[in-house]
Amino acid sequence: MCYFKRILVVDLTTGEHHFEDIDDEVVRKFVGGYGLGAWYTFTRQKGTRIDPLGPENILSFCPGLLNRTGTSYGGRFMVTAKSPLSGGWGDANCGGRFGPALRSCGLDLLAIHGAAEEPSVIVIDGDEVEIRPAGELWGLDAPETERALEAELGNGVHVCAIGTAGERLVRFAGIVNHGGRIAARSGLGAVMGSKKLKAVVARGKKKTPPSDKKVLTALTKAYNHYTKADTRYDKVNEWLVRKLSKLSPLLRVAPFQVKGEGIQFKHILKQFGTCGLTPMSAEVGDSPVKNWAGSGSHDFPLKTHALHLDGPLVKEREAKPYFCSQCPLGCGGINKCAEGEHAGHKPEYETICALGTNCLVHDIDLIFKLNDRLNHAGVDSITMGAIAAMAFEAWEKGLIGPDQTDGVALEWGSTTALEWLVEKTIAREGIGDILANGIKEASETLGCEECAMHAGGEALPMHDTRYDPTFALAYSSEPTPGRHTIVSQTYVELMGLERKIEGVRAASLPLYRKKSKYDPTGQGTVMALATRYVQVANCLGLCEFGFLTGDAPVLEWTNAATGWEWTMEDLLRTGECIETIRHAYNVREGIRPADFRLPDRVLGRPPLKTGPLKGIEVDVETMQQDFFNHLGWDLETGRPRKDRLEAIGLGFVNEALDDAAATV
Ligand code: SF4
Repeated sequence: MCYFKRILVVDLTTGEHHFEDIDDEVVRKFVGGYGLGAWYTFTRQKGTRIDPLGPENILSFCPGLLNRTGTSYGGRFMVTAKSPLSGGWGDANCGGRFGPALRSCGLDLLAIHGAAEEPSVIVIDGDEVEIRPAGELWGLDAPETERALEAELGNGVHVCAIGTAGERLVRFAGIVNHGGRIAARSGLGAVMGSKKLKAVVARGKKKTPPSDKKVLTALTKAYNHYTKADTRYDKVNEWLVRKLSKLSPLLRVAPFQVKGEGIQFKHILKQFGTCGLTPMSAEVGDSPVKNWAGSGSHDFPLKTHALHLDGPLVKEREAKPYFCSQCPLGCGGINKCAEGEHAGHKPEYETICALGTNCLVHDIDLIFKLNDRLNHAGVDSITMGAIAAMAFEAWEKGLIGPDQTDGVALEWGSTTALEWLVEKTIAREGIGDILANGIKEASETLGCEECAMHAGGEALPMHDTRYDPTFALAYSSEPTPGRHTIVSQTYVELMGLERKIEGVRAASLPLYRKKSKYDPTGQGTVMALATRYVQVANCLGLCEFGFLTGDAPVLEWTNAATGWEWTMEDLLRTGECIETIRHAYNVREGIRPADFRLPDRVLGRPPLKTGPLKGIEVDVETMQQDFFNHLGWDLETGRPRKDRLEAIGLGFVNEALDDAAATV
């Protein structure tokens, strides 16, 4: 059996802990990862409409179900809690090493209640659990904390820590492991800081044998041929990417436009990481430019700007590739650095665009520096970039003046201004103290709401909705708003879902290739089917790049690891349970679908006048209607239909929503 049906509950207020057994049915319904975290929080949270930074909030660390099973790409873990940014459901997905370490302590979930009086560390060493004073760790950056705990506790420990931003309750702080892999979104580092919890440490030796090791190994071996480039076909593709890259970064992705998209994507990831896509994305309109108001070709031209952020330049600064646990691909990288400096992780596409294209900055060395700074302090780089872009626009419009910036001019593209904003925010000094409260609250305080590109308080990520309109649906309708890693038409194609799920082929259209003829009809249904699939894949702990780079055997891996003998229908029903309980949490906390409405600019209202996205307006309403209908959610109140909840075995959710409604 690859899981333990066992959770550890720690109460930081009382200093007590205990282990709980959970029913097999719970694991089958919510799998692991944030699915199990959502079930736990939904059923155990005391009261509703709680303060996300108060002791009632439950912070959970959740290994993916396939952690330590030997499944390739299956090493990711998740962190969950009520989000201080959206005021609703929060989760963040992370690679590195911590998930498998927690699983090796015999745990499917670590749930942390209450808040400590003094800075603390939770140490889980096998079955031993101790809450220790954080002592001199408070005030250290996350990787420094990790190194200090490793030195103190010896071999085999794995550490998840907050940096100084989490301590200062910067509301978009994340939680860091393995020198800079960060569970960045939803502001969960601030939740950890509010509990005065500096770090969680795990060390264990428990094994998690898959139900059918022979089948699981064969599946993994067969799938790995995509990433190990050990076939003639793969070598041809690898050669093609290299050759085309030399000609133009735009040609690098040309083979995406014919069959074999996933394989091509894999080679770009392997050679450059996600940053291999930046110039192409900026040029074609995928990357937001100038706070979503600009156009790549006009405001961030290829030769003078976008090519300064290209994959090969990032690669030049990389000392060696980085692999998360169980990963055969290694899209990450460890930076070359001056002697004595800490070698951090190289920046990802999202970071390069958030600090680059969106702020009109094209200094790759500065982006490396700030990426490292944000990883060390434990800050979500997507939100930091979105907030900086908001500040640049507010300055341009005269909504922020020099009296608020110590005289620093927040001019578009200013590297000095960008670095100043990052440092002020991490330190919560001056205007940084306002910005640290998140994009929504900061924009309200500064009176620049029109410049704030967010959904329900979560800053928007770096895929333009006018390039792939289905991202607009994901940003505004997923229980964690502003999330780019769940569904989109692009991902549906890369995952090959039309070959796996009935109904996807019929409704799927290559809409992002024909933007001017974009038709939203049926797209909401396709995205609802896709999200049901992706919910399970995420909760298994699979890296999205693993299942985006070809026909990943997600269902077959699940059955070989667990022995459940699921059909695709079973998998999709489980995905609906996970999606629905996350959504129901929001409903119970008083959030309505309209609370996640996207800014008009993001929907092309009015449309851009130049560039590749010229003239496009996104009809998110039609897609949202289909999406909510498919999942049985009311579009106005968000509430899931009673009969639908009963049909998928979530009758208890209905009762909880009734109880909450009666007490409001
Ligand atoms: S593909 Fe990249 S992010 Fe995914 S598991 Fe591998 S190294 Fe980590």
